[in-house]
Formats: sequence, structure tokens, C-alpha cells
Amino acid sequence: MTAHIIDGRAMGAEIKAELRNDVARYSQAQGRPPSLVIVRIEGDTASAVYTKAILRIAEEVGVRARLEQLPTSISPDELQNLLLQLNIDEATQGVIVQMPLPAHLSQQMVADTLAADKDIDGISPQSAGNLFLSLPSLLPSTAAAVIEILERTHTPLDGKRAVIIGRSNVVGKPLAMMLLQKNATVTVCHSRTTNLADFTLQADVLIAAAGRTRLVTADMVRPGAVVIDVGINPLPEGGIVGDVDVPSVQQVASAVTPTPGGVGPLTNIVLLKQCLQAAWWQIKGGNGYESVA
Ligand code: NAP
Repeated sequence: MTAHIIDGRAMGAEIKAELRNDVARYSQAQGRPPSLVIVRIEGDTASAVYTKAILRIAEEVGVRARLEQLPTSISPDELQNLLLQLNIDEATQGVIVQMPLPAHLSQQMVADTLAADKDIDGISPQSAGNLFLSLPSLLPSTAAAVIEILERTHTPLDGKRAVIIGRSNVVGKPLAMMLLQKNATVTVCHSRTTNLADFTLQADVLIAAAGRTRLVTADMVRPGAVVIDVGINPLPEGGIVGDVDVPSVQQVASAVTPTPGGVGPLTNIVLLKQCLQAAWWQIKGGNGYESVA
């Protein structure tokens, strides 16, 4: 068997086209586009690249996006005050704070301060709690991007075995909840899991989110499985590679995402999709509004 290579870039273009129409409908109905603020503390070069990408996609789909770039010297109180202002700013529907933060600023403070209805990357305890309780929620965008891929490839989940490698708050855990909601039987593996292959070999859907170069090899994959690679690992010679050894896994799986060009291109598009979701939600009052996943 040679697996179908899932083209994240083509899928991203398709979602962007849909989103552009959906944003236009919102803008027409409300007389203004949804608006997003990206808060970025200077210093981390990778977050500068992500910020640029979000601003570019926002422009493409018609979301108004603004960058609040802050000096590394900003105090925890100043950052918290800015977030509190954005929480009540009626002209702002979505807020994302770029990670990582400098050591003197706490990610937990940011998560605790952001209003859940503007928290478009689903980092707040309320967002996490809503997801846990299967209530409508804004979702961590990478985990939501994985669900988007599974849905758009018509991958069966109901009654299927899903195995996730990784239990982080931003990918593994929320994904486990989302897959449970889709009636998959979910196993979450992590660095203390013994005999990882015993679990991965049972997976109809295998999701690798460990951040370990080519951790998943063909002998760990059940024939016909759908394999989604979330990992992004820099190579010493430059470039990036995922957690899945695609050339070997391709011989066993039925479908696999490449890295680059798989999950990555979808994450920021899903983030903007959630900004639109948040904007409608704020008008309609939240409950009863469908979650993205
Ligand atoms: P993380 O917070 O470092 O979590 C990694 C998880 O993998 C942890 O739960 C860890 O277990 C587990 N793990 C590590 N080594 C393992 C091993 N050998 N066997 C089994 N489990 C192992 O990372 P993250 O933020 O979830 O991100 C995961 C990967 O996805 C990274 O490569 C990251 O760059 C990438 N990523 C991609 C996107 C995208 O847009 N495509 C977005 C976000 C992240 P413990 O809990 O026991 O330590």
C-alpha cells in the first residue's frame, strides 16, 4: 500500500476561500469585519514569523488584525492591564498572545486573564473546562486543525481507535477530548509510556505530537491507518521534519500528512476561523453556538 499524502496547503486554500465568504457575510451583517489583536512580546524570532503569517492570512480572509508589539521590559501588571482592556474593548473580538513569553511573564497569568469568549486559541481554563464538559468552546487551534484534516479527508472516527502521542495542554489533551466527542476510543501516550508500539499498532488513526524527529516508523503503524504528524523538529542542516518517518510509514498507512505541508499550514487558518466564531458568539451570546470541531 502507498499512502495518500494529505496536502495541507491545498486544504488550507480551500478553508481560506470558505472563510473569506463567511467573514464577508459577518462584515455585511455587522457593518464591520471581525477584529483580532495579536499581542507579542519582542525577543522570540519564531513568534515574529508566526505573527507575520497570522497578519497575512487575516488580510487574505478579510479579518481586521492589529499587532500590539511590547518591549521585553514590560511588567506582568502592564501586560495584565493590556489584556483586561482588550477583554472589554468592543472593537476587538479575538485576542492571541504569542508564546513563548520572557521568563518574568507567566503563561498562566495570561490564560487566567484572557476573557474566554475572546480566547481564540483556547488557552484559558474556562475554554479547557468547556471542552472537557463538551460545551461549546473556542479550541486550541493546532488540535482543531487536526480535526479539520480528519473531517475533510472523511476519516471515520465513530467507534474507531485513535492513539495520540503527546499529552500537552495545547495539542494532545484537547485533541483527546475532541476525538472522544467524535466517538473514537482514545489512548493518550507520553514519554513514560512503555512499549509505545503496542499502542500505536492498534490505531486506526494515529496522531504524533511528541516533537521527536521521526519517532514513528513503519513497524509502529497498523496497515491502513491514517497518520497525522503534528511534530515540527528543526534539522541540523536546516529545514524541518516531523515526528513521522513518512517514506517508510507511507508503505503501510492509507493516508499521512507530510511535514512541512501538513498540519502546519492549517493552524493559523483555523485560528482565524475561531476569531470569526468568537465574533458571532459575542453577538449571539455564546451558548447554543456550535464549536469549530
Ligand atoms: P510538548 O509540550 O513538548 O509535548 C510533547 C509531548 O510529547 C509530551 O506529552 C511528552 O510526554 C510527549 N513525548 C515526548 N517524547 C516522547 C516519546 N519519545 N514518546 C512518547 N511521548 C513523547 O509539545 P507540544 O507543544 O504538544 O508540541 C508537540 C509537537 O508539535 C512539537 O514538535 C511542536 O513543535 C509541534 N507543534 C506543531 C504545531 C503545528 O502547527 N503543526 C503547533 C504546535 C506544536 P511527557 O508529557 O511525558 O513529557
